[in-house]
Amino acid sequence: MKIQQGTFYLLSLGCAKNTVDSDSMAQLLMAEGYRPLSAPSRAEVLIVNTCGFIAPAREESIQHLRTLARKKRQGQWLIAAGCLTQRYGKHILEQVPGIDGILGTRRWMDIVQVVRQLRNTPHPQPLYHLPDEAQTIGPDLPGISRSSRFGGSAYLKIADGCRRPCAFCAIPLIKGPAVSRPVESILEEARQLQAQGVRELILIAQDTTDYGHDLGMKEGLATLLEHLVRAVPEIDWIRVLYAYPGHVTDRLIEVMANHRQILPYLDMPLQHAHPDTLRRMRRPANIEWVYRTIEKMRRIMPNLALRTTFIVGYPGETESEFNALLDFVRAMRFDRVGAFTFSFEPGTASEALGDPIPPEVKRERYERLMEVQQPISLEINQSFIGKRLDVLIEGHEKGISIGRSYRDAPEIDGLVIIEGEFPVGSIVPVQVSGAMTYDLSAVPLPQSLPVLQAL
Ligand code: SF4
Repeated sequence: MKIQQGTFYLLSLGCAKNTVDSDSMAQLLMAEGYRPLSAPSRAEVLIVNTCGFIAPAREESIQHLRTLARKKRQGQWLIAAGCLTQRYGKHILEQVPGIDGILGTRRWMDIVQVVRQLRNTPHPQPLYHLPDEAQTIGPDLPGISRSSRFGGSAYLKIADGCRRPCAFCAIPLIKGPAVSRPVESILEEARQLQAQGVRELILIAQDTTDYGHDLGMKEGLATLLEHLVRAVPEIDWIRVLYAYPGHVTDRLIEVMANHRQILPYLDMPLQHAHPDTLRRMRRPANIEWVYRTIEKMRRIMPNLALRTTFIVGYPGETESEFNALLDFVRAMRFDRVGAFTFSFEPGTASEALGDPIPPEVKRERYERLMEVQQPISLEINQSFIGKRLDVLIEGHEKGISIGRSYRDAPEIDGLVIIEGEFPVGSIVPVQVSGAMTYDLSAVPLPQSLPVLQAL
């Protein structure tokens, strides 16, 4: 099979923020005349936008790179991009011989330059395009979007990088400090997405509640949301992910409650609930603030859907600290809970604590946490039986449609299974007919009945 000149294959791994970078790199290459191919075998340029966050993600990235390097043929170039390369740079080559170019996540916008250099250098040695530590995420490029569309939805990146001190997290090492995109650039992109018929806008960053801090803005996220609802009145849903506890302010809650477009949904990773564990994690340890703020949000937004994430097995986590976490989860009754076992991350502040909790104990705590959360998730889902929801359709097959309600962020929360086939990207009012631990089943309803939502 002949290699097709001027073509590329791009594999995107990791989080939604990486997906946006992958889409932006693809746009830059297409603007240069390159054509995307969905299979690597005939593509001239092979790119893996890697994830380097935690060990399992790194392993997955290495495996994909090894596979492509093994199958690579004369006339093909393999480029490793993204967070793994940013974090480990040239050392990647020790694990994956056969990589031709390395591009750090902070310089995704240099992809065309790297490809050009590889193609124009007769016998190129591996090419490194790694910014130094000081270099932050680059600015927006005119005409290159910082969003990623799928069905009727789009992830819209509002900032990148992070200035928080979380001891277990390598993101600040990889991405550098938070860099917010200019308000006008975000609004302009949101208008374009509205014009393309997007129904749901999902705001993403490592910490959306820190938006605008580096631009000198106070309450940057609340201000941005107010601009957005004025700029894109035809977008039905605006969803906020990755809120940092301690920075969900009264103003933000007020803005969320006062605008129908802004979904009564919040993803606020808490990571733990015992003050001692949180202090060792260098995370906000004022658990009273969490109780008060969640109580306030639920009072002001009675239909609020709350998602959070926890880490179990963090160094020093005692049985009583873990039980305090279980008691907290029982008391707070979150709609959605994600959980991870602690991953030892060299180079982070937690490195000095080592990884003392045995894997089997971590596993067992993970399972005990999910055993506490699953009946809660089911009970909350059961409370929706008979109620109406709007569902954004993501797919349909054999007389069934799959979609998400305001309570479901893509890829991480539940789904709604509806009788009947509805167009992808349409929003269908339904009546909930059944509940499972994470998902709901529903029947479509005539438009007349009122829709369940905050306002
Ligand atoms: S806020 Fe999130 S991305 Fe930032 S350091 Fe903490 S865990 Fe990492």
